[in-house]
Amino acid sequence: MARLTILGSAAAVPDMDHENAYMVLEGERSALLIDCAGSPLARLRAAEIDLHRLGSLIITHHHPDHIYGVPSLLLGLRMHGRWAPFDIFGTRESLAVIWGTMDLLGWQKWPSPFPVGRHEVEMAEGALVIDSDEFQVRATPTEHSLPSIGLQIVSKATGGVVAYSSDTSPSDAFVRLAQGVDVLIHESTGDYDGHSTSTQAGAVAERCGAKKLVLIHYPIDADFEALRWEAEKEFGGPVELAEDFAVYVF
Ligand SMILES: [Zn+2]
Ligand SMILES: [Zn+2]
Repeated sequence: MARLTILGSAAAVPDMDHENAYMVLEGERSALLIDCAGSPLARLRAAEIDLHRLGSLIITHHHPDHIYGVPSLLLGLRMHGRWAPFDIFGTRESLAVIWGTMDLLGWQKWPSPFPVGRHEVEMAEGALVIDSDEFQVRATPTEHSLPSIGLQIVSKATGGVVAYSSDTSPSDAFVRLAQGVDVLIHESTGDYDGHSTSTQAGAVAERCGAKKLVLIHYPIDADFEALRWEAEKEFGGPVELAEDFAVYVF
């Protein structure tokens, strides 16, 4: 079993139905968070994720909409009785921001802390991030206004593959990483530097030969039908907009 649950779907401005974009992956024995916005404990519980199985967090980049839930996550896990190690993966810059923020919050003085591992992701195409008994995760630097990574996740149980662009303008390196994926989750913020339109996301999905395209990190006041239609003009496969709590089995 490999399951990806969308915990948030919005670009930088969220609303009650669309939290900022982040997601969780679940296998039979472990779960892995990708970015951490909003109210992660509430969302993870609503998505029925066993918090004791949640072992790691990958940060794609350190814009606030992707990391502002981290202090709440770490506090919440501790209050939930965590003792097992927890691992955070990200670029050198993202890790520095997270550790700096947590130090400002005085986390070293929290009672009964659990160990948190700090793992730098190499900024190289196809860099190995995680190789567990359930998932292999690789990263590739993408094109954004600060160092950011796209991800490819392979389920060792099913052989299924998903890829997530995070924030980026159309990226050749990401296209290479996401070749032939079962589910391509691509941002569609709009026509801004370091971001992609839904038309561009559709073109990327076509170049990847993806089996399905899921648009995420979209403006909440956009015409959702138009976003889908624009991507469909470029991509021959099915297109949908990510919705909070949507589940993709792969
Ligand atoms: Zn960003
Ligand atoms: Zn963003």
